[in-house]
Amino acid sequence: GAGLPRPEQTRIMVVANQKGGVGKTTTTVNLAASLALHGARVLVIDLDPQGNASTALGIDHHAEVPSIYDVLVEGKPLSDVVQPVPDVEGLFCAPATIDLAGAEIELVSLVARESRLQRAIQAYEQPLDYILIDCPPSLGLLTVNALVAGAEVLIPIQCEYYALEGLGQLLRNVELVRGHLNTHLHVSTILLTMYDGRTRLASQVAEEVRSHFGGEVLRTSIPRSVRISEAPSYGQTVLTYDPGSSGALSYLEAAREIALRGAGIHYDVHHGHQGG
Ligand code: ADP
Ligand code: MG
Repeated sequence: GAGLPRPEQTRIMVVANQKGGVGKTTTTVNLAASLALHGARVLVIDLDPQGNASTALGIDHHAEVPSIYDVLVEGKPLSDVVQPVPDVEGLFCAPATIDLAGAEIELVSLVARESRLQRAIQAYEQPLDYILIDCPPSLGLLTVNALVAGAEVLIPIQCEYYALEGLGQLLRNVELVRGHLNTHLHVSTILLTMYDGRTRLASQVAEEVRSHFGGEVLRTSIPRSVRISEAPSYGQTVLTYDPGSSGALSYLEAAREIALRGAGIHYDVHHGHQGG
């Protein structure tokens, strides 16, 4: 609730992992809603042509709706496409429509093709505490635009076999973008998702991720929860769909941890909700 520190500058977090189905979209929308419920002003940018984040937030994104495609390819201002999310005060969404599937190719021939999202965000004048960008499961120009626009990378990792496989490529891209296009970029946050505390596998994967990444891994992990997977079909996040569920509480706790870390406050694990 109240009393969470708000960042001095807008924190732009890129939710990325080129594997599909690891919880990028789920994490983007539920973290964003949690941060908004904690009192922050939050914008979700849906950068996946599937538009799953838009759907999960109950945002209309049929083909005619002004969308992030118009911003990236047509140079429309972000303010023309941002919509308020129903039922969650302080939460906004720039939706993705199916046109975005073509953007990966169309961007290639455009001027400043890697920094079009960055420019659009810099020109956006509404005050925001957080921007969360939901990336597609690939490392093409859409994800590069997100990495150029953001300062922080948030990697959701599913607690499954091969959890770390493929991450090397994402980390190398982060280094490349940091070296050439955006010196601020760094992996700030790793979040373990779909954690099933009853299985040895999940705790082994969690241990492996913690020993590999250390301090970037949030103490809070997100449990596997049916309520989390049901919420999008009602156009809701789990925070409004079932506010008392373990999934909702764990995302609220992850949001609290992210806000405290951003303010340089040590997170006390004994007061944290550990999911499960
Ligand atoms: P990505 O965006 O990385 O492709 P999604 O967020 O769409 O991944 O998640 C993939 C699938 O897993 C979706 O059906 C989603 O509802 C489900 N899911 C994600 N997180 C959880 C969770 N904590 N518990 C149960 N199901 C989840
Ligand atoms: Mg997704």
